[in-house]
Amino acid sequence: MYHGTPNDNPSSRYSIRANLFNAHLRYLKKNHWNTILFKELTSYSTYPEKTVAITFDDGYADNFEGAFLPLVNYNMKATWFITTDSIGKHAHWMGTHAPETQILTAEQIFNMKKTGMEIGSHTCSHPDLTTLSYQQQKIEMSESKQILESIINGKITSFAYPYGMHNSDSISAAIDTGFKLACTARPGKFSSEKNPLLIRRITIFDNDSVNTLARKLIFSDNDVSLKKLTNYYYQRITDKVTGHRN
Ligand SMILES: [Zn+2]
Repeated sequence: MYHGTPNDNPSSRYSIRANLFNAHLRYLKKNHWNTILFKELTSYSTYPEKTVAITFDDGYADNFEGAFLPLVNYNMKATWFITTDSIGKHAHWMGTHAPETQILTAEQIFNMKKTGMEIGSHTCSHPDLTTLSYQQQKIEMSESKQILESIINGKITSFAYPYGMHNSDSISAAIDTGFKLACTARPGKFSSEKNPLLIRRITIFDNDSVNTLARKLIFSDNDVSLKKLTNYYYQRITDKVTGHRN
């Protein structure tokens, strides 16, 4: 899960400098990682073991040059979850207006889809869905789906919960809206979650080096600090010595 890809140091820890994102792509390419669209995860077992679905939340305008064009250049794919009230405007939930909070235009979204990227919904207004009724959640989902479908002239089947926040009504509303797959912000591999409306993702932070990305891909976790990994290996060695097999 990526967010913005500005040229300068981001002001949000969820965004990443465009040249560091480029380094991530070079790493994936060099190490033979296959990229698929989020919606293609349903048939993930037919893909090579080193397969990853790159996603972007909110639809920041700096993704166009900072992420979309490099992805095309590397012949890779990704999925964008767009908040439709903000298309061509600012991400109002981010507070102050800045170039970093500018959202992609409808024309850019159309072109990204035409070039083989996937567009998914991220609601209309980016609310914490758990504060809304089922009916309000359903409106946030279905209206954003309709708007995006008219922009890309195609079906929208993927969804991402804003802030990763969801409750049982969110899952029902997502199913009733016609989403096939929806993702949270809980860390983990695709195969670690049976419910297609609760797909896990790994969060990429502003200072995640290529080495951190590599560890995140191995451990499918957001915390891959050396301290944590040392404990992990220590535990494995201890388990081996004491005969634990789980
Ligand atoms: Zn978001």
